[in-house]
Amino acid sequence: MNQSHHMSIDIRGFLRTHKDPSKWPTGVFHRDDGTPMHSVEAVHHMRALLAKGVTGLPGTGCDNFDPMTGQCLGHEREEAGARK
Ligand SMILES: [Zn+2]
Repeated sequence: MNQSHHMSIDIRGFLRTHKDPSKWPTGVFHRDDGTPMHSVEAVHHMRALLAKGVTGLPGTGCDNFDPMTGQCLGHEREEAGARK
């Protein structure tokens, strides 16, 4: 069995190390419809998630993410064509 895991973002860690949202680069956060989210709005969103017990954000393309532990639960990797 061969599993891969996505990178994820720890919300508390992110907010702790990025204290000033006005200095965050644009284009990091997006809404569900794909439009860019302002950093201040993103902070409100992350604090609301923490209040619900969510600790992490999934990486792009991850459909097996546990928001409570903030971790990708893993994906079976295709053996065919996989390099060893
Ligand atoms: Zn994943």
